[in-house]
Amino acid sequence: MHFTGNSLQKPLTRRLLPLAYALAVAIALIMALTWGVLQVQVTLAGFLNSESVWSKAQKQAVIDLDNYALNGDIADLAGFQDNYGLLEADRWGRDAIISGDFSKASITRVFERGNIMPAAQPGMTFMLQHFSGTPHMREALAAWRSTDTSIAELGTIASELRAAHRAGGPTEAEIKRQRDRIKALNAYMAPRTELFSIEIVKGAVWLGELLFWGVLGAFLIAALLWLRMARRILESIRGTEERYRLLFDSAADAIVMVDEASGRILDVNRTAAAWTGRRADELVGDRFVHLFVQSMAGQQAGRAATNALLGADGHARPVETQTSLANWGNQPVRQAIIRDISERVAMERERRIAAEALANIAEGVIIADAGRRVISTNAAHTELTGFTSQSLHGKRLDESRCLPDGKPLPQSIWDSVTAGHNWMGEVLSTRSDGSSYPEHLSISAIRDAEGQVAYYVAVLTDIHEAKANQHRLEYMARHDPLTGLANRAEFERYCAAAITVAERERLAVVVLFIDLDAFKIVNDSYSHAIGDRLLMKVAERIRRQLSEGDVAGRIGGDEFTVLIPRLILREDARAIVSRLLGTLSEPLLVDDYEIVLSASIGVASYPLDGDNAAALIANADAAMYAAKTEERNAFRFYTPMMHADTRRRLQLATELRQALARNEFHLVFQPSVELRTGRIVAVEALVRWQHPERGEVLPAEFIPVAEGLGLIRRIDEWVMQATCAQIQAWDLAGVPPIRVAVNISARWFGHPAFVDGVSRALQSRHLAANRLLLEITESAMLRLGDDIERTMQTLHTLGIEVAIDDFGTGYSSMAYLKLPAVAYLKIDRSFVTGLPGDTNDAAITEAMLAMAKSLGLTTIAEGIETEAQHDFLLRSGCVEGQGYLYSYPLRPEEVQHLLCPNQPLVPAARLKLVPPKRG
Ligand code: C2E
Ligand code: MG
Ligand code: MG
Repeated sequence: MHFTGNSLQKPLTRRLLPLAYALAVAIALIMALTWGVLQVQVTLAGFLNSESVWSKAQKQAVIDLDNYALNGDIADLAGFQDNYGLLEADRWGRDAIISGDFSKASITRVFERGNIMPAAQPGMTFMLQHFSGTPHMREALAAWRSTDTSIAELGTIASELRAAHRAGGPTEAEIKRQRDRIKALNAYMAPRTELFSIEIVKGAVWLGELLFWGVLGAFLIAALLWLRMARRILESIRGTEERYRLLFDSAADAIVMVDEASGRILDVNRTAAAWTGRRADELVGDRFVHLFVQSMAGQQAGRAATNALLGADGHARPVETQTSLANWGNQPVRQAIIRDISERVAMERERRIAAEALANIAEGVIIADAGRRVISTNAAHTELTGFTSQSLHGKRLDESRCLPDGKPLPQSIWDSVTAGHNWMGEVLSTRSDGSSYPEHLSISAIRDAEGQVAYYVAVLTDIHEAKANQHRLEYMARHDPLTGLANRAEFERYCAAAITVAERERLAVVVLFIDLDAFKIVNDSYSHAIGDRLLMKVAERIRRQLSEGDVAGRIGGDEFTVLIPRLILREDARAIVSRLLGTLSEPLLVDDYEIVLSASIGVASYPLDGDNAAALIANADAAMYAAKTEERNAFRFYTPMMHADTRRRLQLATELRQALARNEFHLVFQPSVELRTGRIVAVEALVRWQHPERGEVLPAEFIPVAEGLGLIRRIDEWVMQATCAQIQAWDLAGVPPIRVAVNISARWFGHPAFVDGVSRALQSRHLAANRLLLEITESAMLRLGDDIERTMQTLHTLGIEVAIDDFGTGYSSMAYLKLPAVAYLKIDRSFVTGLPGDTNDAAITEAMLAMAKSLGLTTIAEGIETEAQHDFLLRSGCVEGQGYLYSYPLRPEEVQHLLCPNQPLVPAARLKLVPPKRG
C-alpha cells in the first residue's frame, strides 16, 4: 500500500534506527576483531622471527665455539660471544617479561638486539606476560628453558677454552674433550630447539585457527543478533501497519485520502466504499468532488462542511466533511473524514417540525426547567396571556396562576407530575393586562436519562368561551329556548324543591297547568313565526302576574305551567289564576295582527293532589283538560275523577303506536252525491281504528293524538296505499270508476316526500292520477308557506286534483282557491248545520258558493242531514253533497253493492242509504 509506507516514513526511520546502529556496531566489532587478529598475526610473526634468530644464534654459537676449540681463532670466539650474548639477552628478556619485573627500555633493547620488528614487540611482550601458560606457548617455553643450562655450559666451555688459549693453548685431548662436550651439548639442544620451533609454529597455527573461528563465530553471532533484531522490528512495523489498516477500515466514518494537486482519490476505507456503493479500487483514481452532490468550492481545510454523499443507488446521504492537509513525503495529501449525519439531519428535521408545530398550535405551551422556571413559551401563549416569551423567562410557571378559588397551585400537582402522572385541571390565569381568565392546564414532565425531571411542559387553553358555552348549554338544558321559561325538567326540579320546603314547613304548593284555547288554529292560520311570537307574549304576560318565588315554565307547544310555593291552602291560588285568565284573554298584538285568545287552567296542589312534581303536573294537566272540554277560558281544581280521562288519553297514545304494526286500521267510504240527480259521483275515504277492546275509535279522538305523537304521516301514508289498493280491487270487481277522495294531514302535505309518496302509491296500483282527489284543509295549506305554490303546481302537472276541506273554518283565503290543482271546495258542516234557518250561515254559504262558481270550482257541502239543507244547497247552486241524509260512511263491499246493485252483497251488513229527495 503506497500511502502507508509514506505515511509511516517518519516513525519507520525511528524504528529502523536501532537496526542501523546494530549493523554499525557489528561492523565495528568485526573490524576490531580483524585488527586484533592482525595484531596477533604480527605478534606471531615476531615470535617466529625471534625463534629463527634465536635458533640461528644458538647453532652459530655452537659452530663458532667448536671452531674456536679447534683453531683457537679469536674471531670465532668473538662470533661465539656475540651469539652467546644474544641468547643470554633473549633468555633474560623472556624471564623478565614472564615474571613481569622489567622495564620497557630494557626489553626494547633485547628486542632490538634480536632484530625483532617493532610492530610485533608489544604483542610479544603481551603474549609472554599473559599467555605463557597457554598450549604450545607453554611447551615452546619449556623447550626453550630446557636449553638454558646447555647454553650456559657453552659459555663455561668458551671461558675454559679462552683460558686454555691464554695459557698457551689447550691440548689435543683437551680440545677433543671440549669438542665432545660441545657436541654433546649440541646434540642435547638440537631436538629441543627443534621442538621450540615446532611448538612456536603449532602455536601460531592454533592461534590462527582460534582467531579464524573466533572471528567467524563473532561475525555469525553479530549477524544472527542483527537479523533477529531486524525481524522483530519488521514484525512490529507490519503489526502497526495492520493495526493501522484495521483502524482505517473499521472507522465508523468514511475516510478518503486525496492527492491535493490532482484532486484524485488515493485511498479510501471500507466505510467509504460501503456508503458510495463502489469498490475501493473503483474509487481510487476518481476525482474526490465526484463523490458529492454539492460543489466543494469554498470549503476550508479543518472546517466541517455539510454535503450529500452520492450512493450507487442514487440515494444521497447527508454528510459532514472535514479535511486536513498532510504530507506523504513530498506529496501534499488531503485527508477527508466524512461523517454520516443522517440521524442528526433527521433529528434536526424532527426538532424543526416539533418547534414549528409548537409555534403553530392553538394551545399555549410553556416549557419550564426542573425548578419550574420558564424557559420558553409559544406564540399561542403570548396571544392568550399577552406575556412574551422573554418577559416570562426565568419567572415561575405557577406565578401567574392559581386555583379557581384563588388559592395557589398546591404542591400535590408537582408531586403527581414528578411521580409520572399527567396533571390536568382548571386554573385561573392572569394576563399581562391584569385581567384573568379560566384556563385548562395540563402539566407533564420530561425526564433525563436518570429519570429525573428535567423540564416541565404545560399546555393551556383559554376555556372562557367553553365555560360560557357550557353555561349557555346548561341554561338551554333547563330553559325553553323560545320563552326563556323553565322547561319541564327544570320546572320539576323547582317543584321538588318547593315540595321539600312545604313538607318541612307544613305549607301547600300549587301547580297551574295553562293551555291556550285554539292556539293550533292560530298557528295553522297565520304562521309559525307569528305563533312563536304569540307564545313569547303569552309567556311575558304570565311572568308579569307572578310574585317573587313563583316559577313559570313551558312544557309543551302551548302548554305553560306555574309553580306557586308557600301557600297555606290550595284555594289561595284562585286569585292568581283569575288574574292569569284575565290577562290571557286580553287581545294580543303580534306584528299587525290582533289576536284574541283564551286559556284553560288546571290547578293541582301538594299535599292534596300529589306528593311529587310529576304527579302534580299530570294532575294539573288533567284538571286543565277538564276545564277545556267543559268550558273554555276557565279553570278547574283537580279532582281524582279527572285522572281517569288523562289516563285514557295517555293509554291511547301508547296503543296508537302499536296500532299500525298490528294493522288495526281500516277504511270506510262516505259517498258524495250529485245534488241535482242523487247519483253517487264520489266517495271519501275515512280512517277507522278497530281497537281490540274499545271497538271502533273515530278519527276525532285519535287523529289529534297521532298528530301529537308524530304518527299522523305514517297513518296518512297507510290510508293512501289502502285507498289505492281498494280502487284497484273495485276496478277488478267491475265497479264503475268514481272519484275517491283521501284526507291529507298538514304534516304529510308539508313533507318534502309528499308528492313522491302519492305518485308511488298510484303507480304501485297502476292507477291514473285523476282517480284520486286529495282533501287538504286550509290550515294545512297555510303551513306549507311559500312552498304551497310549487307543490300545487307539481300536483297539477301530475293530474292530481285537490279539494279544500272544511272551507270557512280557517283563514278562508281567496288566494288558495286560485291555486293550480284546486278543483273542489268543501263547505264545512258548521255552516250547513244552521241551514236554512240561520241567516248568517245561509249568507256565508251562498257567498262561498257564488265565489267558488266564479272561480270554476266544484262545490261539495259537508254534513247534510236534512232535506231542508239539501233543498237550500241545491237552490243555492251547490253541486255535490255529503251527509247522513244520503249515506253514512260505508265499508268497501257496501260501496261496491251500492254502485253495482246487481252484484250480491257478500257480508250481510246493514246498509242505511237515504236516497235524495227531489224537489
Ligand atoms: P272531514 O274530512 O271533514 O270528514 C267528514 C267528517 O264528517 C267525517 O267524520 C264524517 O263521518 C262526518 N260526517 C259526514 N256526514 C255527516 C253528517 O251528516 N253529520 C255529521 N255529524 N257528520 C258527518 P269522521 O269520519 O269522524 O272524520 C272526521 C275528520 O277526521 C275528517 O273530517 C277528517 O278531517 C279527519 N279524517 C278522517 N279520515 C281521515 C284520514 O284518513 N286521514 C286524515 N288525515 N284525516 C282523516
Ligand atoms: Mg274530508
Ligand atoms: Mg270536512
